[in-house]
Amino acid sequence: MLIKVKELELQPVDFDEQFAPGAVDMGSEIVQKAPLHAAGRAQLVQEHRGKHKTIKDIRLNGELRTSVELPCARCLEAVAQEVERKFDLLYRPQGADAGKEELSVTGAEAEVGYYQGEGLLLEDALREQVLLALPLKVICREDCKGLCPHCGTNLNVEQCSCAEPADDPRWSQLKEIRSKLNH
Ligand SMILES: [Zn+2]
Ligand SMILES: [Zn+2]
Repeated sequence: MLIKVKELELQPVDFDEQFAPGAVDMGSEIVQKAPLHAAGRAQLVQEHRGKHKTIKDIRLNGELRTSVELPCARCLEAVAQEVERKFDLLYRPQGADAGKEELSVTGAEAEVGYYQGEGLLLEDALREQVLLALPLKVICREDCKGLCPHCGTNLNVEQCSCAEPADDPRWSQLKEIRSKLNH
């Protein structure tokens, strides 16, 4: 859904959208398990800079929710994550702040992004918000044993032979010596 500045010049645009899994590209690691629901409002904010210059910003606020699966950082098994996020964002035209210090005219609660051309693609804004809502790292459970660094076996599921030092020939030699000493 493209939110056009031209439309916002007439009136704010309210949205209430469902995006099926795949409609918003979340990258290869995130698997969307439920529709992404987003509702809110887009409106035009005019910023006056100097005497003659007006910058047309898009303010986007609302909330979204969905559920996704991420790979466990240790064993790569899928971990379910519920995503719920409120947002209040300001998008300036691309290049509006070029060569300037970042301006904070919008108050502390709004974050600033940029749109290109005639407007803002809602899907782009939502993707960013979903990614921001997710933790950098998830683990499937506190005591996840992860993958064996040598053979890649999932150690939650089975024990591989590289993880057993008792099978190391050096240990059996030691055992031999020890048993000799004991006699
Ligand atoms: Zn795990
Ligand atoms: Zn192994």
